[in-house]
Amino acid sequence: MEFATKCIHEIGTADATGSVTPAIYLSSTFAHPKLGDTTGFNYTRESNPTRARLEQLLAALENGVDALAFSSGMAAVDAVMNLFAPGDHIITGNDLYGGSFRLFRNLNAKNGMEFTSVHTSKLEEIKAAIKPNTKAIFLETPTNPTMEISDLRAISKIAHEYNFLVIVDNTFLTPYFQRPLDLGADIVIHSGTKYLCGHNDVLVGFTVAKDPVIADKLRLIYKTTGACLGALDAWLVIRGIKTLPLRMEQHQKNAFAIAKWLQEQPRVQYVLYPGLENHPGYAINKAQTTGFGGMISFAVDNAETARQILEGVKLIKFAESLGGTESLITYPIRQTHTDLTAEECAEKGITDCLLRFSAGIEATQDLINDWTQAFAAAE
Ligand SMILES: *Cc1c(COP(=O)(O)O)cnc(C)c1O
Repeated sequence: MEFATKCIHEIGTADATGSVTPAIYLSSTFAHPKLGDTTGFNYTRESNPTRARLEQLLAALENGVDALAFSSGMAAVDAVMNLFAPGDHIITGNDLYGGSFRLFRNLNAKNGMEFTSVHTSKLEEIKAAIKPNTKAIFLETPTNPTMEISDLRAISKIAHEYNFLVIVDNTFLTPYFQRPLDLGADIVIHSGTKYLCGHNDVLVGFTVAKDPVIADKLRLIYKTTGACLGALDAWLVIRGIKTLPLRMEQHQKNAFAIAKWLQEQPRVQYVLYPGLENHPGYAINKAQTTGFGGMISFAVDNAETARQILEGVKLIKFAESLGGTESLITYPIRQTHTDLTAEECAEKGITDCLLRFSAGIEATQDLINDWTQAFAAAE
C-alpha cells in the first residue's frame, strides 16, 4: 500500500459490525476469560483497543516495529529520556522545541544526565561533542524555529560507529515528507498535537522505535509512568491522519507561496524556509525528504514591526502551536523559547524581530491578503 492509502486503510476494520471507522473503547479495564488468560487487553494505562489501532497506524507510517501514543508530545520526549541513567551523556541540537530544553535542563540534568548542545547541521560539531559516555543524539530537522537542516544519514552513520542512538523529533515534516527510521535513526518522536492530528483540537505525542528491544523498554516505561492517550482522543487522531497527505500538500503549497511573497517585502530582512533554493539546507533536505513542510520563520526590520504584524493579522491567529488547519503566527522569543538565555537566543537568531508562521490549509490568496493588510497596517 502506498502512504496515502495506509493513512486510511492500514488499521482496517476490526469488528463484525462492518463499521468503517474504529470503535471507541471507553473501558478502563477488561475482563479475563479465565485465570491466566487475557483478551490481549487488561487495563487501559497499559493498552486500549482504540489506542492500539492508532499506535499500529503510526508504526506503519514511520516504518517502525512499534509505536506508543502519549497524552502529549512532551510526555513522549520524557519517556524517551527515561531510557537513560545518571552519568549518561546526550548530544542535542541547539535549536529545539523550547519544552525539550526545559525538560533536559530542569529535570534530566538534575537527575544526573549530561547534555551538550551543538549545531546538528555541522557534523564536525557533533564529532567534537562525542564522549565515552555518549548514549544518544537528539535532534529536529528542520529545527524550531530557525529551520536548520541536519543530514540524518550522515549523523546516523557517525552515531552507530560510536554506538549511540539517534532520536529524531519528526513533528515538523511528519512521515508524509520524512521517515527518519529509513534514514538510519533509531527512535522517532512526535508532537502529534501538530500535523498528525492536524486540527488544533487534541494534545498527543508518539514514540516510534525500530528495534524491538528498545520498543519493549519504551512500553515498560509507558505502562509504568502512565502518560497514556485516552480513547476518545486516539479516535480523533486516527480520523485526523486519514487526511494527512492532503493537508500536508496544502500546508506546503501555502508555505511556499508565502515564503516567496515575504521575500519580496521591504520590511522583511530574511526568510527561513527549506523549500527556497537559497536556504543553506536546501540540498540536504531535498535528498532526505519528499517535501519542505509548512513552517516558515522570518525576520522583520524591528520589534515594533513584529508587534504590529502580530496584532494586525486577522485570519491568521497569533497563537502558540503549529500544524493545524488554521494558520498561526508565533513570536518565539516571547512564547515558545522563553527557557533559553538571552545569549542563546541571540546566538541562534531568535531575536525580537523573528516571527514563526505555521501555514494552515486555507486558500492561498486569503492568506496573502491577510499578510498584505497586516504589513500595510504596520507602515
Ligand atoms: C509542540 C512540540 C513538542 C511538544 O509537544 P506537545 O504536544 O505540545 O507536548 C515537541 N516537539 C516539537 C517540535 C513541537 O513542535
